[in-house]
Amino acid sequence: MGEVSYDIAIIGGGPGGYSAALRAAELGLKAVVIEKDKIGGTCLHRGCIPTTSLLQCAKVLETVNRAGKFGIKVEGISYDWQAVQKAKSVSANRLFMGLNTLFKQRKVEVIKGTATFDEPELIRIDDATKSRAVRADNIIIATGSSPQIIPEFQRNPNMAMNTDQALEISEVPKSITVVGGGAYGVEFASLFKTFGSDVSIIERAAHLLPRDDHEVAKYLEKSFTKRGINIYTNTKIQAAVQLNGGVQIKVENQSTGEVKTITSDKVLVTAGRIANLDDIDIETLGLRTKYGFIDTDSDMRTNIEGVFAVGDVTFNPQYANFAFSEGIHAVEIIAGVNSPTLNLKQIPIYTFGYPELAKVGYTEDEARQVGFEIETVGLPFQAVSRSAINKEDIGFAKMVSVKGGPIIGIHLIGPDVVDLISEAMLITNWEATAEDVAQFLHPHPSFAESIGETVLKLAGKPLHSL
Ligand SMILES: Cc1cc2nc3c(=O)[nH]c(=O)nc-3n(C[C@H](O)[C@H](O)[C@H](O)COP(=O)(O)OP(=O)(O)OC[C@H]3O[C@@H](n4cnc5c(N)ncnc54)[C@H](O)[C@@H]3O)c2cc1C
Repeated sequence: MGEVSYDIAIIGGGPGGYSAALRAAELGLKAVVIEKDKIGGTCLHRGCIPTTSLLQCAKVLETVNRAGKFGIKVEGISYDWQAVQKAKSVSANRLFMGLNTLFKQRKVEVIKGTATFDEPELIRIDDATKSRAVRADNIIIATGSSPQIIPEFQRNPNMAMNTDQALEISEVPKSITVVGGGAYGVEFASLFKTFGSDVSIIERAAHLLPRDDHEVAKYLEKSFTKRGINIYTNTKIQAAVQLNGGVQIKVENQSTGEVKTITSDKVLVTAGRIANLDDIDIETLGLRTKYGFIDTDSDMRTNIEGVFAVGDVTFNPQYANFAFSEGIHAVEIIAGVNSPTLNLKQIPIYTFGYPELAKVGYTEDEARQVGFEIETVGLPFQAVSRSAINKEDIGFAKMVSVKGGPIIGIHLIGPDVVDLISEAMLITNWEATAEDVAQFLHPHPSFAESIGETVLKLAGKPLHSL
């Protein structure tokens, strides 16, 4: 088994691995990506892209359903689920081809196969036909994560789908129970509701999106309830049984003790994902883990010299933009170029669907816990004229600011707010105060004014609100 040597070997070609490889190529390093499936990883094939594509189809349906409000007549509205699925696959395939082209243009080598560590600098790669070995001074583990079968469904895993299966579902279920009220749960609940399912969502914590600002999470629950989604927060599953082709779940409210039964055609478990560590033999390597994920320092170094880990396989938030930031940072550290400190609080977090949510920086509770002396302001989107034009009644912006100091948290819920968080990210990361930003008046009428108006309010000079 001959060995080939590289400056960097990257295990996994998802967002963490491919961003590292592309940056390594830019820096003139000899890098290889080892991928057992398809480059693009979960994000491109089973995550961000297919989910957001389906949600885009849902958005078109919602727009058509609301056409009458704008005097537009559309008769006989219906959808073809197979065509919706195809629209999703077409987007993913186009992006997959684009990524392959980018790899070729930057001359990034890809080896197909499953990587295992033989020793810290030596990787064995097995595929269906042969084994080979790669030696590298630096190795980046970017093996990602997979859906988890939670204990409540372990006795009969066929009772529930995971997100991979939900994305490929052949028809829209009449009713569905979504287990887990994190980002994926909220996105799928929103998706299936738009396509006509009767949707229930179960979450153990007191709110959906428990890591979001509590006021924004409450706002989401109100808008989901208005859409007819049944929400069971603070609720744990007691038992689940298969029944006449459907599933019956017995749930208990953890504060009142009240027990209820939810029956639905399908169950989708979105709660929790596990790090993909089985193949790489972390015991042989002696890699330190934290709650089942690889433990790293802020430069993505593991406890083994020359071995880095990035993306979902680490304990950091599981989003593609975190994986991109970590992959690029790890390579820059390896290359010895000046790489800004990676501060996870600077990276936005978001949830698609209707409504969308996006945040950057501290929630009100986090800021208080850390000990900041803060003030907060909230602004309903009704204060923004675009809201009346678009006939939208949903939308809320909240800012958390150090008293007399910088804005440290921005939280948005409403239509298309994920696109607005980029401006918010610049405000918090440049540690701008309300006074610094208030002078910049936003395009009118636009939803971007929600940020401008909230800043004006924080600066004590509101324009279209009190
Ligand atoms: C339903 C869903 C929706 C999502 N939506 C969004 C979204 O809208 N926006 C967002 O930012 N994030 C979203 N995410 C999260 C995002 O997909 C992940 O954070 C991101 O893919 C993590 O990238 P990664 O490179 O760490 O891992 P992955 O993308 O999981 O890639 C890991 C790769 O490693 C390969 N691999 C694993 N083990 C080995 C081995 N031993 N040898 C060789 N190859 C190996 C795998 O085949 C895989 O291709 C979503 C996730 C899900 C599940």
